[in-house]
Amino acid sequence: MATGSVKTHAAAAEEFLKDGERSHWHDETLWHVRQKRDTAAQKLPEWESLRDVASQIKDYVLSHLDGLLLQFEQKARENGIEVFWAKDAKEHNEHVYRILQENNVTKLVKSKSILTEECGLNHFLEEKGYDVVDTDLGERIIQFNKQVPSHIVMPAIHLKKREIGDIFHTHLGTEAGADDPGYLTEAARQHLRQKFIEADGAVTGVNFGIAETGGFVVCTNEGNADMGTHLADIHIACMGIEKLIPRAADLGVFLRLLARSATGQSITNYTSHFHRPRPGKKMYLILVDNGRTAQLGREDFRNSLKCIRCGACMNTCPIYRRSSGFSYNATVPGPIGSILSPGTDLKKHSSLPFASTLCGSCSEVCPVKINIHEQLYKWRQVITEEGPPQPAKKWAMKFGGMVMSKPRLYDFLGKLARRSLKNSPKGLIYNRFNAWGKKRDLPDVPKESFKEWYQKNRKS
Ligand code: SF4
Repeated sequence: MATGSVKTHAAAAEEFLKDGERSHWHDETLWHVRQKRDTAAQKLPEWESLRDVASQIKDYVLSHLDGLLLQFEQKARENGIEVFWAKDAKEHNEHVYRILQENNVTKLVKSKSILTEECGLNHFLEEKGYDVVDTDLGERIIQFNKQVPSHIVMPAIHLKKREIGDIFHTHLGTEAGADDPGYLTEAARQHLRQKFIEADGAVTGVNFGIAETGGFVVCTNEGNADMGTHLADIHIACMGIEKLIPRAADLGVFLRLLARSATGQSITNYTSHFHRPRPGKKMYLILVDNGRTAQLGREDFRNSLKCIRCGACMNTCPIYRRSSGFSYNATVPGPIGSILSPGTDLKKHSSLPFASTLCGSCSEVCPVKINIHEQLYKWRQVITEEGPPQPAKKWAMKFGGMVMSKPRLYDFLGKLARRSLKNSPKGLIYNRFNAWGKKRDLPDVPKESFKEWYQKNRKS
């Protein structure tokens, strides 16, 4: 089943679930990360206050975005950073390409940036003849494997150690069958070190842009953003316009929340502050809209722009954990991606808001208190009204509504269903049209309906 040429979430998840062992292991691995997040959060008595403050700061940012962006731009320019605006992915990629051309950059290293994934920068530059090297270890692994990230914080979380060993054997010449993490990491370190030394340009994302100072902050665990930017002459930072915070003093609130929510660490290993180019070097900042202003204009969904991309909602989501990031067919998967993606292409992503149990666990863990499950529910209503027609669902709802409004018919059909389920052969009940029953068994059929039971027992 597909929407246009794109598989629905359910169809893509079915592919992943064919490998039951991997699905189970993926679920357990992410749950472990969720538990680490809980332990880290519980150690801070002020955790809930931090979430409240972060949410309020982001509310302020969203309601003053225009002014704060101009302030940020002006301060950054005063610091000697060249600033460009990009209304969409195409403009973003063209800015990067032009900067590389103007500065005769031939070798480019890139640290993890979800925005550049969203804009398809690697593909764009590769078509122009550039060799773009992703330097985050997880990103490099999936780059070797010709895949896209399956998680925004742990891009290669879908791969097992053994598979990474095979990938390194093919691309880095490590010993066949070797999967010791220390050995593989050392091989990656040696490989990437050479790439850092050779590079003359470095691209990074931005975790937080500070309107008050015109500076920005990049968080990594491997120090790869620092290695790239310190060795290359040109630093291009790509930032979504929602990544702003008003003051430097606000930064501590977000840094305390980000790493704890993402991986359970107190802080990311490297929290790098960039304010101005070093003497003789150049620094560029590209501020990218790419649908964010449109999302800001949707009252029910504007809160989704508060996201600081910690990944906690993915780690806790029972659907994401079992179906993996690839099932979402979107740069940002999981619960928050299922809110953001329909805003960019409703037809393509119309199945995503339905990939949720609406249990609310995502909203519970979100460090900036986005009402994720409520927005997913809201998207379902919008999609039902405006999305592609779903005649089978509409007919079923109409029929259900009619039956429920006629008590005698409801009682009669209930009795009929109980009798048929009891007496029908299993093969007839679990037929190929019964998608629900593919992986599940119905409970034993009760002798009577609840109404009958209640009428018999209410006096006692
Ligand atoms: S929506 Fe919240 S929990 Fe999910 S990635 Fe964004 S900040 Fe983290």
